[in-house]
Amino acid sequence: MAEVAPQTIDINDAIFCVHYKEVCSDCDVDLREENDAFYGFDPIDREGIECPASIVNKDGAYQCKKHGSTGCNQCYGWKKQITRARTAAKKAGRK
Ligand SMILES: [Zn+2]
Ligand SMILES: [Zn+2]
Repeated sequence: MAEVAPQTIDINDAIFCVHYKEVCSDCDVDLREENDAFYGFDPIDREGIECPASIVNKDGAYQCKKHGSTGCNQCYGWKKQITRARTAAKKAGRK
């Protein structure tokens, strides 16, 4: 079976599928490992993070709908969100 690279989007250094999800059954993608590696984490079985509603601005960059910012710390604070997901996964005994 030929491997087809899933279509992904890059938002503030993290990778998501076209539905703004890190783990998506529709696209059959799991981007947790990529994003974990980017932030220097060992991949573990944690909940996938999701990108809040975003729009593409005239420069072709993604910006959050809520604040209209391309580097929004609140909406695009991936490291914080990943850390939180990792902590929850560890607490739940997942590895
Ligand atoms: Zn998807
Ligand atoms: Zn925002």
